[in-house]
Amino acid sequence: MRILAVGVATIDIVNTVDRYPVEDEEVRALDQRVSLGGNATNTLVVLSRLGHHCSWAGAIADDSGSRQILAQFLQHGVETRYHTRHADTATPTSYITLSRQGGSRTIVHYRHLPEFGWQDFSRIEIDLFDWVHFEGRNIADLEKMMVALKARPEIVCSLEVEKAREGIEALFPLARLLLFSRAYARHRGFFDAASLLGSIRRQAPAGATLVCAWGDQGAWGMDGQGELFHAPAFPPQRVVDTVGAGDVFNAGVIDGLAAGGVLPEVLTQACRLAGEKCGRYGV
Ligand code: ADP
Repeated sequence: MRILAVGVATIDIVNTVDRYPVEDEEVRALDQRVSLGGNATNTLVVLSRLGHHCSWAGAIADDSGSRQILAQFLQHGVETRYHTRHADTATPTSYITLSRQGGSRTIVHYRHLPEFGWQDFSRIEIDLFDWVHFEGRNIADLEKMMVALKARPEIVCSLEVEKAREGIEALFPLARLLLFSRAYARHRGFFDAASLLGSIRRQAPAGATLVCAWGDQGAWGMDGQGELFHAPAFPPQRVVDTVGAGDVFNAGVIDGLAAGGVLPEVLTQACRLAGEKCGRYGV
């Protein structure tokens, strides 16, 4: 499959600490890793590993971080010719503190970079792709991109809905695959994935596949006919890093559906992949 993902690419600086510090405390990190990050970026890197031809489209700054990002994409076999570069900006950076004791990951994100907009997207030769995956952000422009794709039914369009953003629900009828997070479900007042998916089904057209991951409880999915499935999580021997588990899971779902898999098996495979990721550092 030729897959294009549109989203933010960040530099992630992940410090592992014994326990989360209190304000004004100084602690020493047990381990540090610096890596390429961003939701669609992580998903794309995994899809590339799984053998797909992957391209990334997004905004990029004009600093050393941006050169690092492009080099890392290259290293992961992801093509980046559709990036838009902005002078006098800064590479988005996520400072992540992983607590061994609590198992939590606390993220401070710095961003000073314009969004990748409709004008940027309209320059992409969209015919070159079989699948286009979007991060649910910059809603007004994203709607134009997804409407343009709607006129091309041979190209599959998927949307990751991680955060509740104003107007994001208007995009639901435009995607063939919707990937929801637990955070979004909770924001909408749902305490389980099945209730969220049942409610979304009434907004998205029949035919769209709906998926919602739920941490160590695995994931739920609803196929185009409204049938609900659940796949349990596959816990590794020791959970060491859950940062990006959702992005890896999304890659598993895209990979499975792209191969023509049926939803229950696709969910199981994606949970297996994400569970394996939780047992190791990085994606
Ligand atoms: P996010 O990274 O977006 O918070 P989730 O926490 O919902 O995403 O996790 C996505 C998927 O990763 C889950 O559906 C599950 O398959 C897997 N996963 C997450 N946490 C664990 C865990 N502790 N053990 C095993 N699998 C996990």
